[in-house]
Amino acid sequence: MTPLSRLSAAEAQHLRGVLFDLDDTLLDAGALTEAAYGALFRLRESGLGLMAVTGRPSSWGKLIARQWPVLAAVTENGAVIHHHDGARVVQLPSRDEAQATRNAARLARLVAELRRHVPALQPSDDAGERLGDYTFDVGEYRQPNEAEIARAIAITAAHGAYWVRSSVHLHVSFEGDDKASGALRALQRLAGEDATRALGAWAFIGDSGNDAACFAAFHTTIGVANLRGRFSRPPRFLTRARAGAGFAEAAATLVRLRT
Ligand SMILES: [Mg+2]
Repeated sequence: MTPLSRLSAAEAQHLRGVLFDLDDTLLDAGALTEAAYGALFRLRESGLGLMAVTGRPSSWGKLIARQWPVLAAVTENGAVIHHHDGARVVQLPSRDEAQATRNAARLARLVAELRRHVPALQPSDDAGERLGDYTFDVGEYRQPNEAEIARAIAITAAHGAYWVRSSVHLHVSFEGDDKASGALRALQRLAGEDATRALGAWAFIGDSGNDAACFAAFHTTIGVANLRGRFSRPPRFLTRARAGAGFAEAAATLVRLRT
């Protein structure tokens, strides 16, 4: 990883948009600062498309797509996409509704088993707002020990489910999406992007384990200074500031290099 100050003007000028994580990237311990929110408008004014890509529930996506200057909001780690269709906010149809229904039933059985075998793990307070995944609090308000988290991950893997961990939540799901597959689906369907070209033309900004797929997939990747987790391919650039201030720093750098 190199300091963000090493990003070239040519690379910044080549970009068509920015994908960004929410918790501990745009948000500071859940709070949206004026600097971070304002940075979204500066990015848009410099000609960049914007898309939120988060592990938060679909209910957040509905609100973000309605209110923020974004093309779409990808939630539940890639499984759900909300966007404007005229004045309305709509959800992109799931690829296979029958499969989604079967996945929901399997997920309910897995969650019941996790609650029984790892009682120390508590659902996140937004677990009830989710369509495709289920989440346990592993750092937002509670700090379960690592052995309990590892036990939950082992049970999840034995069920053949997908799991991923952010700075706040452990996600379990049978949907099979990750942030990169969800973002690419949104870019193809809503921005008319070719998937291969999009990997080089959209930057990604994130901070933790559930951002790994996007750090690995996209070419221009930026971690905020509080970056944590193990990555097969870490982000190429790192900001000096943490979380929302780091996002604002990334935005200011991109805007300056593009003008
Ligand atoms: Mg995050």
